Amino acid sequence: MTRFEGRTVVVTGGNKGIGFAIAGRFAAEGANVVLGSVEPQVEEAAAALRETGASAVGVVCDVTDPHAVTALYDVAEREFGRLDVSVQNAGIITIARIEDLSERDWDATLAVNTKGTFLCCQEAIRRMRRAGRGGRLINIASGQARDGFIYTPHYAASKFGVMGLTQSLAKEVATDGITVNSVCPGIIRTDMWNYNDRVWGKMLGDYGPGELMASWVQNIPMKRAGEGRDVAALIAFLASEDADYITGQAINVDGGLIMS
Ligand code: NDP
Repeated sequence: MTRFEGRTVVVTGGNKGIGFAIAGRFAAEGANVVLGSVEPQVEEAAAALRETGASAVGVVCDVTDPHAVTALYDVAEREFGRLDVSVQNAGIITIARIEDLSERDWDATLAVNTKGTFLCCQEAIRRMRRAGRGGRLINIASGQARDGFIYTPHYAASKFGVMGLTQSLAKEVATDGITVNSVCPGIIRTDMWNYNDRVWGKMLGDYGPGELMASWVQNIPMKRAGEGRDVAALIAFLASEDADYITGQAINVDGGLIMS
């Protein structure tokens, strides 16, 4: 498949989990991929994609730092000459009872999940408008942007913020040929979910490793947890020509867990 041949895609948080699956999907479909992450191992993730024959570059980029974000998109344009798709995937979560939730955790979560998404969208739109070829922005929200969950008010607030940002930007750039959409993953098997399983598992009952995940999966109509590739497939669709007339939307990818 070469749907994205000659296109350049930036994926934040691209070194592992859902972000790496997204980067891999675009690489497999012919795109030049730029992966940004906090840890220097992001270059190893890019190297793994290059071994499959893809064009991929890893960039150390903390999405809360505007200078680092500018540098990330500079690399995309310098290495590959254009920017077509930007996927705002970088995200963090912590879990705490309200009395224990620190201001530091609140600020860090909003900084990465919401401000980081804003900074990347701003930088991508600036460049897409300048180039005049349109483009695609896809923001990773969460089922918690639909339905806030217990012990994560800061995370839910950060992801509701992503939805508002998505809708507002979609209206502002609609006539520039740029679409802006969100996706809302449910329970996806990654390091983040392992943390959730462990910490929520202790707070919500006496769950052993994997037991909370197993019990929540029973609430999913499809009776299975999601994988990064499930999210990546939706994002590839939203980045494709088939999604030309879709903007300002939030689409769940969760096996039917939330139907609104
Ligand atoms: P992981 O914890 O596996 O990966 C998170 C990624 O975000 C890592 O690549 C990490 O980079 C990166 N990251 C964290 N902080 C920053 C930062 N300041 N700047 C740049 N990159 C950063 O999580 P998932 O793959 O599970 O999550 C990906 C996205 O999907 C997140 O936005 C998450 O909120 C969302 N999501 C996940 C769900 C799930 O069930 N897994 C469900 C719903 C939404 P590094 O490794 O370098 O720190």
